[in-house]
Amino acid sequence: MGNTSRPGSVVIEQINHAPFEVAGERYFVQELVWNGISGRSYELVNSHEEILTEDESFDDHPTDAQIATVLEGLGIDCGMETCKFCREAVLPARAYRHDNGWVGSCCWDERLRMTA
Ligand SMILES: [Zn+2]
Repeated sequence: MGNTSRPGSVVIEQINHAPFEVAGERYFVQELVWNGISGRSYELVNSHEEILTEDESFDDHPTDAQIATVLEGLGIDCGMETCKFCREAVLPARAYRHDNGWVGSCCWDERLRMTA
């Protein structure tokens, strides 16, 4: 039995990342692993399993700002906050409270939990 599937044409693994909530709706990032290639693609999916990035999936896990761009394009207000360390825009649902500010998953380290 020869496998004639073209590399990059078949999803061989699907990884659903931790869900998060924006404006009362749950979303998650779905990571797709393809046959025969090392590149992966990442989709933003809503709680109805609808892929919101069908036309243009991400090549890397999207940043909070990229996720917000997709959601705001759909008219969803993400209420973005700013990461106190790198000043990136972060989604509160994916960020951590630290002192009086926010730390995004970009800069969060479990050690910070001790000092929050
Ligand atoms: Zn950061």
